[in-house]
Amino acid sequence: EPATPILSVNNIEVIYDHVILVLKGVSLTVPKGGITALLGANGAGKTTTLKAISNLLHAERGEVTKGTIVFEGDEIQSLSPNQLVRRGCIQVMEGRHCFGHLSVEDNLMTGAFTRRDGAAAIRADLDLVYEYFPRLKVRRTSQAGYTSGGEQQITAIGRALMSKPKMILLDEPSMGLAPQLVEEIFEIVKKLNEEQGVSFLLAEQNTNIALRYAKYGYILESGRIVLDGEAQALRENEDVKEFYLGVA
Ligand code: ATP
Repeated sequence: EPATPILSVNNIEVIYDHVILVLKGVSLTVPKGGITALLGANGAGKTTTLKAISNLLHAERGEVTKGTIVFEGDEIQSLSPNQLVRRGCIQVMEGRHCFGHLSVEDNLMTGAFTRRDGAAAIRADLDLVYEYFPRLKVRRTSQAGYTSGGEQQITAIGRALMSKPKMILLDEPSMGLAPQLVEEIFEIVKKLNEEQGVSFLLAEQNTNIALRYAKYGYILESGRIVLDGEAQALRENEDVKEFYLGVA
């Protein structure tokens, strides 16, 4: 039976500065409770796709000119990023984006700013984040800017968790991290998916690891989806092997 989508992106076009067409009709679906990978080389349009979903393009003078984006049955193009977070869809940006001068714990607490369910519930979720990321508990009073790259990446994911998301749009979680740490981050993604039911759209250049954790993948080239399929099938696809997995 076809899985219920939590997110569907239908034929979106994105233009930067009124002239540069960067997404040329992108469609994709993330099933409820799924992990879906959005793959492609640097500049293919992965970040732009995530920002279009989160409605974060405006700040960069990019705009969605065509198509629809549906989250849990509702069109969301006109929602602000904060409204979308309140509905349960949040983006973790590329490059960690911690508040360097704040402590790790204060960074996590900023993730709860859209919530209206009171201090006790928020405290309980902070404890949950520390359960998933014991490292952050150890570092909770450290200034985030002085923690390691891996710690900053998990702080960013932990902060997103503080908004009680149903879905996380995770941009390039492997970027700049040692292979061992990359594996740890993906293990956490898997756990959050299995234990908390969080759905993920993962934008990744690291095709190999993304296709080990995702169930389904889309490959983006120059603003178009050129191939999609079950992760297993993509891993066995000759073009994917040659161009994205580095094995001919
Ligand atoms: P990356 O690995 O760098 O995140 P990506 O696949 O996410 O790559 P995008 O960042 O979405 O790619 O960029 C897609 C295209 O849009 C690129 O050609 C890029 O140069 C262009 N682009 C991105 N941001 C802007 C902007 N603010 N103004 C104009 N062009 C932009």
